Amino acid sequence: MKAHTNDAAERVIAYTGTELHTKGWLQEAALRMLMNNLHPDVAEHPDRLVVYGGIGKAARNWESFDAIVAALKRLENDETLLVQSGKPVAVFRTHRDAPRVLIANSNLVPAYADWETFHELDRRGLMMYGQMTAGSWIYIGSQGIVQGTYETFSELARQHFGGSLKGTITLTAGLGGMGGAQPLAVTMAEGICIAIEVDESRIDKRIRTRYLDKKTDSADEAIRLAVEAKKEGKALSIGLLGNASDVLPVLLERGFIPDVLTDQTSAHDPLNGYVPSGMTAEEAGELRASDPELAVKKAKSSMGGHVRAMIGMMDRGAVTFDYGNNIRQVAKDEGVTRAFDFPGFVPAYIRPQFCEGRGPFRWVALSGDPEDIRKTDEVILREFSDNVQLCNWIRMAQEKIEFQGLPSRICWLGYGERARFGKIINDMVASGELKAPIVIGRDHLDSGSVASPNRETEAMKDGSDTVSDWPILNALINAVGGATWVSVHHGGGVGMGYSQHAGMVIVADGTKEAEARLERVLTSDPGMGIARHADAGYEVAIRTARDKGIDIPMLGK
Ligand code: NAD
Repeated sequence: MKAHTNDAAERVIAYTGTELHTKGWLQEAALRMLMNNLHPDVAEHPDRLVVYGGIGKAARNWESFDAIVAALKRLENDETLLVQSGKPVAVFRTHRDAPRVLIANSNLVPAYADWETFHELDRRGLMMYGQMTAGSWIYIGSQGIVQGTYETFSELARQHFGGSLKGTITLTAGLGGMGGAQPLAVTMAEGICIAIEVDESRIDKRIRTRYLDKKTDSADEAIRLAVEAKKEGKALSIGLLGNASDVLPVLLERGFIPDVLTDQTSAHDPLNGYVPSGMTAEEAGELRASDPELAVKKAKSSMGGHVRAMIGMMDRGAVTFDYGNNIRQVAKDEGVTRAFDFPGFVPAYIRPQFCEGRGPFRWVALSGDPEDIRKTDEVILREFSDNVQLCNWIRMAQEKIEFQGLPSRICWLGYGERARFGKIINDMVASGELKAPIVIGRDHLDSGSVASPNRETEAMKDGSDTVSDWPILNALINAVGGATWVSVHHGGGVGMGYSQHAGMVIVADGTKEAEARLERVLTSDPGMGIARHADAGYEVAIRTARDKGIDIPMLGK
């Protein structure tokens, strides 16, 4: 076998423009998005193929990466490439409307679905952790989550602070790929954010990309800056270098109680994600390598302390919620009986939107030209001008969000809106108004694509939190509808054993065939979210299904 260096710089090529390196735009889109996931401005640790979210990877290893690239380059327009946990395993003749790539990541038979089994298989080179958009090649940097984070904080502001975070301090931790969106989302909602992060390079990256305003290694300084901004009613974000499990108890002891409290450390992964208390990121790395069992034990017990401090702050008035990293479950396993006293962000702030099929819709300009995204922004402002919140978001995003890698945009769109916008984009590609095709996709965190009882499906009305038929049906309907690539993953967001979810990406290449595929997929995909929530008995979803004429056989009159 050919020797491979682990040098992403040698292999990750940021293809842009209109020249194809494959036999069609659909394959080209997959190739460019795989490369984009690992672009140095996009991925957290491209040399290790790690895109974000702990060890969320784009390909199993560099041999697999090379083989995927080679397969995409030779893939015909009526063939489908199959990828098993980041390794290309087969190419079959299918048909032109079929997905060009089908992906399954990190799936384990349920009785074995835990980190121990996964790590053992990972060590033996049989698996990789796909997280959500890492292994399904539709990660677009921190922008991918920033509107969701903004929607969450805005809804929290509506419920608790009269509609704005102005004059409030949010305390959180974790400035990684997703968590890094928190300071920008809080300041967009006019608030002040202190984000504790143990790895200084992550703080610097967020400052460089304008997601974060300031940094300090002193808790006193962070509090002083935050309190000053609070008095002046100014928005400000501060990165505080430190370990959250050490800093939180100290702040609590001193009587510092934030207005809002959450956390986005990579708590879903006790081995590779959460840095145990008393340790720097480097020291944790050494311990993980020398004694992984001890590293896991220390991380879990530190998470227990972290959650205890969160509950202490909640008891003294902080509006506290879990931000989708499963830290409550670990704490509960560590004996923190009140770990679930604070809610997850989905039932607390997001579910009503899921009931309307609304969720994070994203698109990427394969041309590499920011002008293409600017033109799509303008179309939204024109065609969706009645949606004030959406238009405000687009204006704010234009002003505040730096592109990372291929220019892209995200906004939350619902049923009907997605299909309509998909057709508009396809028409713009067909007319030549846009320089090249557009990739349309979404997070797995969407209305009908996840089963995750500590997150997206926490506290479902009918108790169906753990039922994972839904994401599988979602993947199947998207595949037969003609999505360009479809993925089924396990363990994203909250870790092994706690979630199953599906991804969808579709390319608008300006053809009539793409128009029909877009209409089908961008209807059934959010439609699944409405069906799933209507089935669980949510009134909003039932009403939406009736209003939109979604055919749900047992919905009744
Ligand atoms: P990431 O691995 O890129 O970043 C996590 C960050 O936490 C790292 O920078 C790490 O240095 C820091 N960290 C770890 N332990 C720490 C500690 N003890 N104190 C302070 N900092 C510490 O992960 P990410 O992509 O940012 O995701 C963060 C978590 O959020 C994951 O568990 C992920 O699954 C979850 N997530 C949430 C959402 C959402 O919408 N809420 C979406 C995707 C992922």
